[in-house]
Amino acid sequence: MPLESHLTLDASAAEYVVDVANVVREPALGGERAADLARLAGLLDALADFARDPAVQVYAITDRSLLSDGRLTAPERHTLERWYRDGLLEVLPRADDRLLELADALQLRVVSSDNFLDFHRAHPWIPGSRDRFLRPFLQPDGAVGVRPRIMPVPPEWQVSRKEEEGLLLEAGVIRRWDRSAHGAVLSRDWRCPEADCPQFGAGDRPSTALPRRRRAEVLCPTHGVPLTDTGPRPRRAQVKVVMDGTVRGRFMVTAGEPLAVGRAPADGGVTLGAWIDDTAVTSVSRTHVVLSYDGNGLSVLDERSANGTRIRRSRPDGDTLIPLHHGNLWHLRQGDSVVLHDRLELLPSGRQFVFEEDPTDGTVGPQASGSAAGPTMMAVPRELPREQE
Ligand SMILES: [Zn+2]
Repeated sequence: MPLESHLTLDASAAEYVVDVANVVREPALGGERAADLARLAGLLDALADFARDPAVQVYAITDRSLLSDGRLTAPERHTLERWYRDGLLEVLPRADDRLLELADALQLRVVSSDNFLDFHRAHPWIPGSRDRFLRPFLQPDGAVGVRPRIMPVPPEWQVSRKEEEGLLLEAGVIRRWDRSAHGAVLSRDWRCPEADCPQFGAGDRPSTALPRRRRAEVLCPTHGVPLTDTGPRPRRAQVKVVMDGTVRGRFMVTAGEPLAVGRAPADGGVTLGAWIDDTAVTSVSRTHVVLSYDGNGLSVLDERSANGTRIRRSRPDGDTLIPLHHGNLWHLRQGDSVVLHDRLELLPSGRQFVFEEDPTDGTVGPQASGSAAGPTMMAVPRELPREQE
């Protein structure tokens, strides 16, 4: 699969964020040269394996200095330049604070060996994090691999000292957004005064792009200038088609446009046949379920499928399978997937929950603040059928 097919700056599609300069300049990832684009290729293959998703989508960013790094070959520099012009690579003066902004706003997983000590105060979700960071490494066979890492919780003095250095570099511009601010910015269409801007210009661009925000300003990440708000934009959520644990395909659900999914749905629905094998196809109804998105979360409805639908609730203490009764609408929460049959599931990408208050998250909103995670989750399977009868 070509390298660039993994790259996207679309906020509703990306699942990982990678600092390209960091990877390309890491001798520990193999290769003889001080800077080598093959290390990025190796990392993307590793992520595809790790995610069990041959088409894994990665948000790639880099310091501007990489585009003129003389240790890369001329063709490698041209490739980076082309990715930048085509809106596949975000290029900015410094990448590390932007990396964390993207990870926080879009709930992306970060691939990095950095401890980000200077950002712990601005991003208190980093120290001790067990599920947001992956470390690339070189496997014995010479291929790049990735593995989850637990972020260190440094002694306070170390944070303070590193933070001071970081603040000097950044002149105090780091600021943590709250979730509603992320949602508000992502729900608008922004325009950059630079017409050829790859992310916010007049031409082709990602359907959902995340601007930078510094203090009260909304800025272009590439050009550092204020963006103009040109109105509301349709919100979209990504859903992956997972067969035997491997991602086979993906599609988008646009807010306010219910989408039929099945073997052969009528009128522009999602036909699963191209992604799944014959055994699976025969157990799936023509229209098996209808997915809808309200801008906050996805819902699923099974009107009359022959073999029925179940909801898998994945939680740290195990999975629960809950039958979805015909005609009942289920609001999917983080960790829920739609089981069409034993081998086939529809898995919402994490991205559509950007706008949702998650009571299992430390940064809860006012509505959710009183509820402990455990009891809330346990109550759902028992309460839902009662509500809907
Ligand atoms: Zn711009």
